[in-house]
Amino acid sequence: MDKGIFKSMFREKKLRLSHPRFLIYQELSSAEAPLGPQELYQCLLKKRRRIGLTSIYRSLDLFESLGIVFKITSGSTVKYMLCELKGHHHHIICKGCGNVAEMTFCDISKWSKKVMESTGYQVTDHQLNFYGFCKTCKPIITKHQIPITK
Ligand SMILES: [Zn+2]
Ligand SMILES: [Zn+2]
Ligand SMILES: [Zn+2]
Repeated sequence: MDKGIFKSMFREKKLRLSHPRFLIYQELSSAEAPLGPQELYQCLLKKRRRIGLTSIYRSLDLFESLGIVFKITSGSTVKYMLCELKGHHHHIICKGCGNVAEMTFCDISKWSKKVMESTGYQVTDHQLNFYGFCKTCKPIITKHQIPITK
């Protein structure tokens, strides 16, 4: 997402866009791959920007709650990528290379209805991630997975 959209999201929520928050955004937006909090800290330090790790963690939490970043957890490592899409959307994560693609469509209204009917809860939102293999990783995987029939 570009700077304008990023800034507007803070404005909409009446949140203060502090300089450290903006620097973290810039770092994520120029990164080629998702970054972890420690990596962000090191990147910023290299640019002589000393932002405390706690402050980085807090900013990332806030970004995540605003839907600005997507948090990728694999095992004990946590990385963040900047979302291209604004508003409600879903992600698919490649189990081979870790690439993430975003999807604008969300068609689970029927499912939500089912959830409400069976639990009596009022559904307000949902989170759903997809996992699989990207186009680049798929051929390698399928080659090994196709059972050999004689
Ligand atoms: Zn996203
Ligand atoms: Zn892949
Ligand atoms: Zn959805």
